[in-house]
Amino acid sequence: MDPLERLPIPLLEWFRDNARRLPWRDEPTPYHVWLSEIMLQQTRVAAVLDYYKRFLEEAPDVSALAALPEERLMKLWQGLGYYSRARNLQKAAKMIVEEHNGQFPSDFAAVRALPGVGDYTAGAVCSIAFGQAVPAVDGNVLRVYARIMGDDGDITTPQMKKKVTQDLEKAIPVNAAGAFNQALMELGATVCLPNGAPLCGRCPAKEFCVALAQERISELPVKAPKKPRRVEERTVWLVFQGNNVALRRRPTRGLLAGLWEFPNEPGKGVLPEEWGLKVLTDEYAGQAKHIFTHIEWHMTLRKVEKGTGTLPSGWVWASGTELEQKYAVPNAFERALGLAKERLNGGE
Ligand code: SF4
Repeated sequence: MDPLERLPIPLLEWFRDNARRLPWRDEPTPYHVWLSEIMLQQTRVAAVLDYYKRFLEEAPDVSALAALPEERLMKLWQGLGYYSRARNLQKAAKMIVEEHNGQFPSDFAAVRALPGVGDYTAGAVCSIAFGQAVPAVDGNVLRVYARIMGDDGDITTPQMKKKVTQDLEKAIPVNAAGAFNQALMELGATVCLPNGAPLCGRCPAKEFCVALAQERISELPVKAPKKPRRVEERTVWLVFQGNNVALRRRPTRGLLAGLWEFPNEPGKGVLPEEWGLKVLTDEYAGQAKHIFTHIEWHMTLRKVEKGTGTLPSGWVWASGTELEQKYAVPNAFERALGLAKERLNGGE
């Protein structure tokens, strides 16, 4: 018998006994499943738990999310990264309010059409919240599939994803689709671990897993190497005046769109003249590094005490409290933010 045909019963039994208690599993409404799946993209479960709870307190349903002021939305998301996810969540919530009378759509195509929702998320929402027999193929599922089936197809390709989706469509039990999809992901996240370290002794598929039988676990899954990230040197200025620090808003498109940042420029530069700032002191304050998907920022931080002159248009002065509560500054500036808070809260 095909390993995939043998999988559902032992996998579902294993999941019933081993599923982690996660808040979005307690009450798997479409809104809860969708929100948690978007938060979990590129982010570990442990990092999401607090965000999920806080987010639901302020935006308990689709209409509340649609009505959340943008600044508040970004603040709630601060630290989770990949901020376009938050913007898309709100765009999708507005679309649900306007086009679906505030009711979360249940049709796969309508869910898939929401901003920020791909095949995987649509599959997760439709199977977990609505019980539809559609697969949800993420990185965990691809790895588990490649090992159970002994398939050496490159899991980074759309062809492989399509093949896995089609095979799972046939294997998914119609009366337990949501549990089956979650169980497969859970198996990948907790047992069939990446980097050649799976815990096969605890696996419900160990009797029929091809990779285990053929001792090919360390070779599978096959994954084409990623392109190396581009390294960009930047200089970040902490411009202080009294008990305030200068922030400016990033452009509304591109990396970290619309978020607040400490003024910075590419290169290991001197304070740009066009900012028109007269400074009393300008000193080195350390180095920081931030890794994005395709780019790495290597930052030199400088502390500046402003003298005369006004801030360029669009910049603001932020107090220590405003840094905490009002402005969403992305994690890329974590070190700079720490230095700014130290200086402002220390009241030097
Ligand atoms: S037996 Fe091992 S390699 Fe195979 S699916 Fe289970 S954990 Fe993964």
